[in-house]
Amino acid sequence: VGVVTARTFGAAGIIAVGSELLTPARRDTNSLFITEQLNAIGIDVVVKLIIGDDRAELAHAIKSVLARVDVLVLCGGLGPTEDDVTREVAAGVLGRELREQTDITGAIRSRFAERGMSMPEINRRQAMVPDGAAVLPNPNGTAPGLWIETDGRVVVLLPGPPRELEPMMRAVVATRLTGRVTGQPILRRLIRVTGRSESHVEDAIRPLYAVWRDGEVPIAATILAALGQIELHLSARAHDGVTASAMLDRAVAQVCALLGEDVYSTDGRTMEEVVGGLLADRAWHIGVAESCTGGLITSRLTDVTGSSRYVDYGIISYSNSAKTELLDVSPALIAEHGAVSEPVALAMAKGVLARSPTNVGIGVTGIAGPGGGTPDKPVGTVAIAVVIGDRIRSRTARFMGERTQVKFQASQAALDMLRRMIVAL
Ligand code: ATP
Ligand code: MG
Repeated sequence: VGVVTARTFGAAGIIAVGSELLTPARRDTNSLFITEQLNAIGIDVVVKLIIGDDRAELAHAIKSVLARVDVLVLCGGLGPTEDDVTREVAAGVLGRELREQTDITGAIRSRFAERGMSMPEINRRQAMVPDGAAVLPNPNGTAPGLWIETDGRVVVLLPGPPRELEPMMRAVVATRLTGRVTGQPILRRLIRVTGRSESHVEDAIRPLYAVWRDGEVPIAATILAALGQIELHLSARAHDGVTASAMLDRAVAQVCALLGEDVYSTDGRTMEEVVGGLLADRAWHIGVAESCTGGLITSRLTDVTGSSRYVDYGIISYSNSAKTELLDVSPALIAEHGAVSEPVALAMAKGVLARSPTNVGIGVTGIAGPGGGTPDKPVGTVAIAVVIGDRIRSRTARFMGERTQVKFQASQAALDMLRRMIVAL
């Protein structure tokens, strides 16, 4: 057994392989996961590329990235078909012979056999291993991954499907990479904010920047505007994880002190999870009457596991007659104020409560566009009402963007209004 001189790793590159990733049809998310995993042990990603299923392009990309990094992770293109070229191209660039490893062929054969199928001969390509490479088992698929050390650097090949790649990447990080890292892990926190623009968040927390920069463990902050919310990302490099974690917790508390109730999540939870938690804590039940959101609010609420504890029902009352028939909204009220109005939203929310012994009702009605706007009520106008027992709130909001964006922002605003009402009680 030869002793390999262990070199430490600081910089990584990622190449996502697949022609579909160069089309608008598919998004490369694997590189985000890989980056998160590498950052967590202190390896920085300094370059990432997306390359189609093209031998020449891929060979060029591998050479150029490998010249700049200690760790190169390739994902995708390990499949059995002719257009899956990663294995062969990587072996070619590194000057390694490919040989079939019969125990892998056997394992693939038995995977097929378990499903009552025989292995197509082309799958033998997935058993080809470059000389000197270590095989990374794939518990969720046929293509094993590969770990190839070369001149003190390492090239890692992983399959494209995320549910195959993710456990394999975790295993690589936990076993082969940990302990060979020069950098320090990066710890992160995510704070989610509503009710303020990106620049208002920035203005409010600006005094903290200097404090964070000069602290015992410097903290970096990034503000990202997302649909219906602002995200504040904090990160710290930690040679001492406990101290860094404590510093980040303190920074989160400082932000919360400045932004108050506008902060709705500091632990990664979504708005629907936060609202669901508030309802579950009180053993309350909610009914939702939706017009322009078309069921989105109810859908988001029911995205959360355990939501059956507090979601009673949702009604999509899109037409005026549905509002009247299902929720008892009077036609005269609609004629007087228009279907998109706070009185109608409120009547919808009350209609929900009248139908069942639910104690929380939401009513939302608006103009998602692109048609239907008037000078008085332009596209994006949404009336939202929340009723909790005998407490009532309503507001009219104006959202920007296209149809689906208006719908999402309306759902976010309605859930947020409910959240604020509950925490203020
Ligand atoms: P196999 O063909 O055996 O499934 P593979 O390694 O060849 O494995 P690909 O064919 O490249 O994998 O990709 C399979 C699927 O995995 C793609 O259709 C896509 O849905 C998903 N996928 C591939 N690369 C990525 C990526 N970078 N980010 C997110 N999803 C990806
Ligand atoms: Mg492919």
